[in-house]
Amino acid sequence: MGNRAHKKAVIVTGGSKGIGCGIAKVFANEGAKVLLVGRNPEAGEQAAQEIIDGGGVASFLRADISTPNDVAAMVETSVYRHGGIDVLCSNAGVFPSARLDEMTEEEWDEVNSINLKGTFLTVKACLPELKKSEAGRVLLTSSITGPITGYPGWSHYGATKAGMLGFMRTAAIEFAQHNITINAVMPGNIMTEGLDDIGEDYLNAMTRSIPMGRLGETEDVGYAMLFLSSDEARYITGQTLIVDGGQTLSESIDTVS
Ligand code: NAP
Repeated sequence: MGNRAHKKAVIVTGGSKGIGCGIAKVFANEGAKVLLVGRNPEAGEQAAQEIIDGGGVASFLRADISTPNDVAAMVETSVYRHGGIDVLCSNAGVFPSARLDEMTEEEWDEVNSINLKGTFLTVKACLPELKKSEAGRVLLTSSITGPITGYPGWSHYGATKAGMLGFMRTAAIEFAQHNITINAVMPGNIMTEGLDDIGEDYLNAMTRSIPMGRLGETEDVGYAMLFLSSDEARYITGQTLIVDGGQTLSESIDTVS
């Protein structure tokens, strides 16, 4: 157990599984008090219990980040359980697949309301508590998909992940006077339950396109966020950090050995 996030009050939305669970474990292992947020209580309680069993401080709250009342309850819970909010990891997101010729307006709206509006609601609700912190930090989980690359079926998803970066750049300017930084991590393909559902063909194709020869681990995103939340990163704001094993570097898959 380290102390790089000693006694910091950290919220991880989407902390019940996948990347968020990895982020929560990294912060808890460094001494943070972590509030895990998600809609499924079973997965969330289990993830929190794993952290507690490993000697960390964590608990779960059922909340839907696309619902203002739930997001307000999330803030109140962090204040009540952990004394405030020092670090917000706004990570929850969905990536259902739908090609444009079949995509419905409802599908477009659902992805936007969770990934993009949910980010806005979460960050805005946490702002008063982040201002009270000595050095508030906001970390967004964007993606390489949208800001850099495209993938069939994910036009709505890519639009939200690129939109998060536009949101971040203006937020960074507005937050700077409060000593709050906001940065985004852009994961490539990280091995999670969410990707597992997409199937083996997708996973094999992605692995072939990654110079490091493997998908990322959820903790890889957590370590990037831990750095961006640290004192060493105090002068970095409005920036992006790609965590993709080199996947976006090559112009041709033939050059990936
Ligand atoms: P995942 O395994 O499906 O986990 C998604 C998490 O978000 C779950 O904890 C889920 O919990 C939560 N969530 C979804 N909708 C929510 C809502 N409305 N309110 C509260 N929580 C919600 O997916 P993942 O792969 O870890 O993805 C996490 C983030 O990383 C997403 O933003 C995704 O876009 C991004 N990302 C993933 C990859 C990758 O390769 N895996 C790559 C780039 C970016 P409940 O379902 O219980 O609500």
